[in-house]
Amino acid sequence: DWVDFILFFHKIIDRFEMTKHVNVTFNRFLPDKAMFVEIDQDKITQVLDNIISNALKYSPEGGTITFTVKEKEGFIEISVSDQGLGIPKDNLEKIFERFYRVDKARTRQMGGTGLGLAIAKEMISAHGGDVWAKSKEGKGTTIVFTLPYDSTQEDEWS
Ligand code: ATP
Ligand code: MG
Repeated sequence: DWVDFILFFHKIIDRFEMTKHVNVTFNRFLPDKAMFVEIDQDKITQVLDNIISNALKYSPEGGTITFTVKEKEGFIEISVSDQGLGIPKDNLEKIFERFYRVDKARTRQMGGTGLGLAIAKEMISAHGGDVWAKSKEGKGTTIVFTLPYDSTQEDEWS
């Protein structure tokens, strides 16, 4: 379906903001205009649910989660940053593998199976996008993904 990604993303963030039970602040840097992308809404909802759940799960008390959408040439770049414990450099690619969890002892108490990001990666790839992680250990994690976007299409909507 063709959807305005900005409105779609705001609604998902709103849902998390209304139901969260931890003291974490949400910060949004989203363009102030509609950006139409062709996506499977259910699948990209699942992608964002997985990424945002992780950000909340690993956020410290009083932390901030930052949501950003940037327009690039031919695609949009979506990122979710937290101020949690971060991910060691050597593990940054492995977290997208099935059942992979950084430091089993550390994450066991957090619950989960280690499938969330593997599923997210599969769905993003199916949309022609890419996903990666950036992190400074002890300072936080940023998950970035892209979706194809054609800005010239916008003319046809106005
Ligand atoms: P599930 O999503 O299946 O409930 P999970 O959250 O452990 O379980 P993934 O979402 O695939 O699995 O994440 C894989 C691993 O990557 C996590 O176990 C955790 O070690 C690490 N990770 C993911 N997101 C973050 C984050 N925001 N901060 C720190 N570590 C993270
Ligand atoms: Mg997860």
